[in-house]
Amino acid sequence: MRRKLLSKSLFKASEPCQKKLVLLAYHRHLGTEATNAWAQSGDEIGQLARLLFPDGVTLGGVGKSPEELAADTKEAMEGPRQALFEATFLSEDLVCRADIVARHPLGGWHLIEVKSGKSLKPEYLQDLAFQSLVLTQAGIDLTQVSLAHVNPDYIYPGGAIVPEQFFHLEDVTALMAEEIPNLLPKVEKALELIRSSAIPLTEVNTFCRSPFPCPFYDHCHKDVHPHSVHFLTGLNRKKVDEFRSEEKRLITDLTDRDISQGFQRRIRDSLAKDRTLVDRSLPTTLAKLQWPLVFVDFEAISPAIPLYPGTKSFQRMAFQFSCHTVADPHSNPEPGGFLHPGGERPDSAFIQALTPFFQKAGTIVYYSDFEVNLLKSLSQEGIPGAADCETLIRRKGLDLYKLIKQGIYSPAFDFSFSIKDVLPALVPHLSYDSLAIQDGDAAAKAWIKMTAPTTSTEDASEIEQNLLTYCSLDTLAMVELVKVLRTFEATV
Ligand code: SF4
Repeated sequence: MRRKLLSKSLFKASEPCQKKLVLLAYHRHLGTEATNAWAQSGDEIGQLARLLFPDGVTLGGVGKSPEELAADTKEAMEGPRQALFEATFLSEDLVCRADIVARHPLGGWHLIEVKSGKSLKPEYLQDLAFQSLVLTQAGIDLTQVSLAHVNPDYIYPGGAIVPEQFFHLEDVTALMAEEIPNLLPKVEKALELIRSSAIPLTEVNTFCRSPFPCPFYDHCHKDVHPHSVHFLTGLNRKKVDEFRSEEKRLITDLTDRDISQGFQRRIRDSLAKDRTLVDRSLPTTLAKLQWPLVFVDFEAISPAIPLYPGTKSFQRMAFQFSCHTVADPHSNPEPGGFLHPGGERPDSAFIQALTPFFQKAGTIVYYSDFEVNLLKSLSQEGIPGAADCETLIRRKGLDLYKLIKQGIYSPAFDFSFSIKDVLPALVPHLSYDSLAIQDGDAAAKAWIKMTAPTTSTEDASEIEQNLLTYCSLDTLAMVELVKVLRTFEATV
């Protein structure tokens, strides 16, 4: 077997789960394709950062071994270029690929890691420490180490983005002297794991699904009890370990002293009785609904690279809403909505189209606090009419997510209160499964593509249809959920 090298991504996988490192290194076929919502914006930011060094050259090549790539890097460093992008460095069993290495005016090399964040974070320092370690061990004369992150004060003036203004270059050379010694024992441990290739006996925990679902989730959960304590919503890893050390391995082993939240106790009791449990707050709240009910769902973009003059990186802008209006308990839902065609900042037209629906609503129903927070940020930016919409949603709003979380649990929710998990349990005839767009991130990407001048009219109209279908299902799902929930009586 070819020797396995410890890359930065493998090293990062070892924290907090050492088993993941070994599975990634030797048993990738047991996992699914990992996806990362930020990958694309990271790519765009990386491309933009390369403009900081116009004479730079991109290295790499599909199918080349790390040894070949490192040899290409060595050759390029001996050449005339001022900067190399994606250069590979190899030192014994460690390997890394650097975003940018540039010749330093004082001699030696300047290592630059590009991040799409707006400030220095501890995990960025660890990434840089890993790379600094590999470069230094590979014999590179490292004069400076910097992080290039998005300048939080940058406001896009229009036209071509000037990378020197867009990025803030933070010199972290001095911090490396502290970071590298801290990193060394962890790197040694990760090297030990990768050299041995034995799969560690790490037990599944909350880190298997958070912050991102692990690609080996299904593989590692094959024989796990469906009521394992780590599934319980709202627990952290430490708490799970604590319960396990007390031999409380199942959610049904937990006492009222162990869990204080009402929804956690309801989950436990619902599993024990294997039936849906309803708190009295659910029918009480639903009895107070004011008709007409207006169900709303918003879609927004927050592009890393600003699209419109006057906006900042990651500034949230609303481009679409769907709504269904139900006049009274016996009426059918009436669909409505708005989708901005692009070409200019969409928020003002969005608010203008939304306002009449909010004004006529008795109760405004939404799912989670995304809608309220979005209106708050548009209001703070001074988008005309946004403050009034925020006032209306705060006065007339009902957060269906909170109502469900605090009022009902069915074992079929599978420990989640997301609309995509609650819907099939309560309204089995409605499903997101066949939709071309499945979530808000995909909707944002689709809208950016739909409004790009390079997209053909045919493609744009297909995307438009997909966006309308996706967003409309979100509000129709809420209509049907409320209809079903109104039939439940309290079980406690
Ligand atoms: S599913 Fe969990 S235990 Fe398995 S590799 Fe992933 S993080 Fe580790």
